[in-house]
Amino acid sequence: MNHPAPRIVVIGAGVVGLCCAWHLQKRGAAVTVIDPAPPGSGCSSGNAGALSPGSVAPLALPGAATSGLKMLLDRDGALTIKPSYALRAVPWLWRFVRAADPARVEAIATALAALLFPAIERHKEIMAEVGAPELVRDLGQLYVYRSAEQLKKDDYAWNLRRKHGVRLELLDSAALHAMEPAIGPDYTVGLLITDSAYCPNPQRHAEAIAAGVARLGGQFVSDRAVAIETDGGRVSGVRGARGSIAAEHVVLAAGAWSAELLRPLGYRVPLETQRGYHVNIPDPGFSIARPVVPADRKVFCTPMEGGLRVAGSVEFAGLKAPPTRRRGELLFGDLKAVFPQARTEGASDFWMGNRPCLPDSLPVIGPAERVRNLWFAFGHGHLGLTGSAPTGQMLGQAILEGRPNIDLRPYAIERFG
Ligand SMILES: Cc1cc2nc3c(=O)[nH]c(=O)nc-3n(C[C@H](O)[C@H](O)[C@H](O)COP(=O)(O)OP(=O)(O)OC[C@H]3O[C@@H](n4cnc5c(N)ncnc54)[C@H](O)[C@@H]3O)c2cc1C
Repeated sequence: MNHPAPRIVVIGAGVVGLCCAWHLQKRGAAVTVIDPAPPGSGCSSGNAGALSPGSVAPLALPGAATSGLKMLLDRDGALTIKPSYALRAVPWLWRFVRAADPARVEAIATALAALLFPAIERHKEIMAEVGAPELVRDLGQLYVYRSAEQLKKDDYAWNLRRKHGVRLELLDSAALHAMEPAIGPDYTVGLLITDSAYCPNPQRHAEAIAAGVARLGGQFVSDRAVAIETDGGRVSGVRGARGSIAAEHVVLAAGAWSAELLRPLGYRVPLETQRGYHVNIPDPGFSIARPVVPADRKVFCTPMEGGLRVAGSVEFAGLKAPPTRRRGELLFGDLKAVFPQARTEGASDFWMGNRPCLPDSLPVIGPAERVRNLWFAFGHGHLGLTGSAPTGQMLGQAILEGRPNIDLRPYAIERFG
């Protein structure tokens, strides 16, 4: 007897929701993706494009309180908190500092490695099937430092990566400038992360996956989910602003907005938006072959289809405040620090996106214990492009085959009590 395809609603058409939809539809489910915005138009369109399986060091490392405070004191530094939002950010920041305990950091790194290591392979698999293999380029990523002393300050994070098997190639000034001749003379030390890649057009990447989902038979509904509906302790569907959709399973992948939909179900998740910015420069007057990251400025300079993208900044200001123009403008200074010859004529307007961040740098992935057949896929923070494809595979297997390919416990929502 043929069983009907299980109906699954995915809330959110960001890259995470799209990869979940793709893996679920591919495995025979009848998937509906609900989002009021076009696929991939949120945070997933404007990121730096880095596919970083080796980014296993969480943001909260031992000494996070001191280094964070130092960064905050620099008004134009990489990290800022809007004064009117400072009190609201305190509980999250407190959890962030507590996650920097060395034993916890080790456990988080292990969980990040399990999630992220297969990322490039997983992205290539989807991109090959949706007919856009050119959207994964594996030429490594290059972190650059002004001096060996400056590099030493990041020893903890790099050693943690090495310990987990991440391959790093140290470059002296000659080797660095031979690899990327456009880099200015102030940067004299390079670290090449060989097993990493980038996507030269995250918007097109998301759209290609969405088209792939549709070709497999998946549906897209342009609506805002207002409630996850339950019946007798299990999920029964999603109520949208314009109507309800019945489902046997629901996947919550609404990025930084996911916590709102969970409150009525009794979940309090410390999900915070870390707002990031980018600017695109059509012709900076030089080219680079791979993402270049000036480590002291904490931005990515990525060669994209249609020009160079400079992306970075972390701003705590909540989900409602308008973008802060100054944060975008600072990206030009970051660019000129590493590429002093850069031309910025014709630069795009500044873009802002909401990174969905949990204080321990781990996403929430897996089943809800309290509501049967509700699944989570949100909170990927600074690594949501990288983590999207492996998350999709994990959830596809967990929901439809009853066996995720890795232990999902480290990503459980219950870790927040
Ligand atoms: C400046 C910057 C640079 C970055 N660089 C990188 C990088 O180089 N590499 C990397 O791996 N990651 C990077 N990231 C992080 C990455 O972009 C995010 O982690 C990722 O895009 C999150 O994807 P998502 O699908 O969870 O969220 P989103 O892309 O934000 O998608 C969430 C979707 O949910 C929808 N939604 C919200 N509420 C509802 C609702 N009630 N009903 C229905 N739909 C809803 C939204 O409309 C949206 O489309 C960067 C982020 C920024 C800001």
